[in-house]
Amino acid sequence: MASGNTKRNRLRRLFKEQEGLCFYCDELCWLPWTSPRDPRRMATREHLKRKAEGGKDGIQNLAMACLECNGKRDDRAPEVWIAERGGELPGDADGCTRLGSYLRQTYDFAPLVRTRA
Ligand SMILES: [Zn+2]
Repeated sequence: MASGNTKRNRLRRLFKEQEGLCFYCDELCWLPWTSPRDPRRMATREHLKRKAEGGKDGIQNLAMACLECNGKRDDRAPEVWIAERGGELPGDADGCTRLGSYLRQTYDFAPLVRTRA
């Protein structure tokens, strides 16, 4: 299990990488240990592959999302949630890399060869 300190450091790193913008809605977030602002925009660590589905705590499986998006996503897959929000993919290269990494670990890109039953 990641310690509280590690969690905080990962959130800080994500915040920096995403320039403070939520992975889903692109709104500016604030870090929980700074002075409170709009509670909906508090930065949270978002597990792209959900922990319940075996998603890890590592940085590759994490993105920073605002509290509102994190809560609204519920148990949808991130790509489903993105599509429901209007189909906009993360605008920055880093966000795309992270989503790509998630998709690779989630779906089995086996060769598209069908075998006869
Ligand atoms: Zn958001």
